[in-house]
Amino acid sequence: MSRVYANSLRQLKAAGLRPTRQRLALAKLLLENGPRHLTAEELFQEARQAGIPVSLATVYNTLHQFTGAGLLIEVVVGSGQSYFDTNPTSHWHYFDKSTGEIVDVPEQAIEFAKLPDPPPGKVIERIDVVVRIRDADGVRRRGSSDESGGSDPD
Ligand SMILES: [Zn+2]
Repeated sequence: MSRVYANSLRQLKAAGLRPTRQRLALAKLLLENGPRHLTAEELFQEARQAGIPVSLATVYNTLHQFTGAGLLIEVVVGSGQSYFDTNPTSHWHYFDKSTGEIVDVPEQAIEFAKLPDPPPGKVIERIDVVVRIRDADGVRRRGSSDESGGSDPD
């Protein structure tokens, strides 16, 4: 077993998840490639390209199990539109309506001056901030030469 699998195995065990073959394969894809944000469909495509025989439903289930176990966070940017973030520590996001991408807001760029007291018997578990951005009026960043599209993480 490679170091990478050993790493994924350790993370699954630490998160209390049984390391099935599919979970290990998806954990390796997700957690080996540095911090990033991806949709279930994107992970599904990566899994297929890597020859991992999983269904989209399994990818969804696994992503939600990983999220429940604290390995990922889910960033909901719209109705039925979620990204999964391999950095589960507290941080904020820009969502670019023009490109459909999410990127991290720089650390400490947002400060909270005041937070509400939670209702009696409740505690604040987490705060989500999505800063919604779009191309400034009249500024078109996407020239016709920007057609390459494909982004290899290498
Ligand atoms: Zn993020």
